[in-house]
Amino acid sequence: MSANRQQRELFERMWSDTASLESRNIRIAERKRTPIVKMLSSTPLPTEYGGFTHIVFGDLTNGQFHVMMVYGDARKIKKNERLLLRVHSTCGTSELFHATNCECREELDEAMKRIAKAKSGIVIYMNQEGAGNGITAKIKAYSNTFEWKNGKVVERRKKDGSPVTVYDAYKKLGYPQENRSFAAAAAMLKAFGIRRVRLMTNNPKKVEGLKQYGINVQPYGIHIKPKNKTVKRHLEAKARILGHRIGSKDLK
Ligand SMILES: [Zn+2]
Repeated sequence: MSANRQQRELFERMWSDTASLESRNIRIAERKRTPIVKMLSSTPLPTEYGGFTHIVFGDLTNGQFHVMMVYGDARKIKKNERLLLRVHSTCGTSELFHATNCECREELDEAMKRIAKAKSGIVIYMNQEGAGNGITAKIKAYSNTFEWKNGKVVERRKKDGSPVTVYDAYKKLGYPQENRSFAAAAAMLKAFGIRRVRLMTNNPKKVEGLKQYGINVQPYGIHIKPKNKTVKRHLEAKARILGHRIGSKDLK
């Protein structure tokens, strides 16, 4: 096989099946005891929330980049304290394009605000779209969730009249509804000697996902008031299908 073809096949796999590529390489790295992330570059960065250290990591299991944003000077990180942490997966539709169907942008914002208030903490921003299924899968799922009607984007409806959730769409397309690994996030924390965190999440799988890789996690809820009915239904689906700790009072 020519080098070009090999490269093309690898890229095709990265685009369509990141998660399986990643889990295979995590297993190999565990067996061979080789690192799964590599620190690539870092800079102090002024933000609306104060000064952070922006650190770029390369993920050796899937070729992606991830970012670790440490409040203040990362060289002075208080690794023995239980640090406030948000492990946040990319949601470009919401964070860059202000899509109105999920709460990701507001959640990231809230995490940054809490960290700034505490004057300490970390955001790990994982290049992990579509619940770990990748951007290709996410956009396919969205095309099963939304459609054009009279020049407007509307939610597609199931036979019973209820809107199709993105989780229904993943299932129909044969993707897992939660397909993220937190091995790389744990490795990024360990690169800084951090082993105890207060994790801002409602997702029990995220808590377990970090614990599995040796991080002592205390969960700390983060609730975003839904800005519209679609987001409310999305949060309800997260609670019902994925077991997120979101109660009815959090949805008002
Ligand atoms: Zn989102």
